[in-house]
Amino acid sequence: MKRNDIILIIAILVFAFGTIVFFNLTKSEGDKVVITIDGKPYKTLDLNTDTTLNIEGEDGEYNLLVIENGVASMKDASCPDLICVHQSDIHFDNETIVCLPNKVVVEIESSESNEIDGIVN
Ligand SMILES: [Zn+2]
Repeated sequence: MKRNDIILIIAILVFAFGTIVFFNLTKSEGDKVVITIDGKPYKTLDLNTDTTLNIEGEDGEYNLLVIENGVASMKDASCPDLICVHQSDIHFDNETIVCLPNKVVVEIESSESNEIDGIVN
């Protein structure tokens, strides 16, 4: 590997890292976890309080939501695809974890934004 190649790789890494940092800075952290089942409000939790919640559906479905260290993630679920379990942790405003089979939507919200959303709903 030539010296120029190494410089190029470092430049790309620095650029990529800078982009990630910039992207994260422009997102705002949420502080609420809003859970809905089939479009109906189920529960709203505090993102800054460590919690484990078993979201139970009417026909025995379940989604195990864990809030830990300011991030929410789906640890277990009864759905066949487990897509929700494999989704990454969420903590930014408007990020979601969706479980289609169970019709469960977990969304991060910030109490400082989205006044309009509240009126629409
Ligand atoms: Zn699922």
